[in-house]
Amino acid sequence: MPPSLKPLVFPLLAMLLASCAAPGIRSSSGRDEWGHRAGPRGFKTVIIDAGHGGSDPGAVSRHTRQLEKDLTLDMAKRIRAELGGGFRCILMRSDDTFIDLDERVARAKRHGDAILISMHFNSGPAHVRGPETYYWRVDSHGLAVRLQRAMTAASPAESSNRGLVRRRLRLTRNPEIPCVLIEGGYLSHSAESQLIANPAYRRKLASAIASAIRGQSADGDAGTGPLPRPLHEPPSRPSDTRE
Ligand SMILES: [Zn+2]
Repeated sequence: MPPSLKPLVFPLLAMLLASCAAPGIRSSSGRDEWGHRAGPRGFKTVIIDAGHGGSDPGAVSRHTRQLEKDLTLDMAKRIRAELGGGFRCILMRSDDTFIDLDERVARAKRHGDAILISMHFNSGPAHVRGPETYYWRVDSHGLAVRLQRAMTAASPAESSNRGLVRRRLRLTRNPEIPCVLIEGGYLSHSAESQLIANPAYRRKLASAIASAIRGQSADGDAGTGPLPRPLHEPPSRPSDTRE
């Protein structure tokens, strides 16, 4: 934003610019309830949320018997390792414990200049496979594009999956920082489930996710396409959509 458009001098104009999420507006930093702004750049704190846990196993593979909650925790630790020392990584959980979704949101809100990645694996019709990415906030679009691109490049095949989706979930709408929920593949698909059971593939996937995060921190939204329009929806509730 040019210096002549100081928010204190032209608050209404500044609000309009922010609400339009026009290209060229400053990168996001710190907490923001709506996230109607460009994506973050230069952040050093990454919160990694391993989906499910404890009494909530998430999806269960009938092909490998593996539980989503174990795989998401494994992936969270792998992403932290792949990110290396340049980032401060905070794991939402580091063992097999249950954390309520609202508690996860409350914990994410404690951090300012950070992003949140919520890691999941999917389940659906037997023929569907491939990674999916969910985001809601405008400031999470670039990161979501990068994550979906990176996971798709690491994945050997896709079939009928939803790809990149804008959806209001508690972990894509309610945290006050850029936040993206990723599904690393379908545990319900026989071949993909076997692949996810392979630690070498999970390492490859974690490496791809880490490189997407590094790319966002280094370059912001550059190369991720136009920002989506801001949507004014209240915080997500338990009755909205299953995560
Ligand atoms: Zn899940």
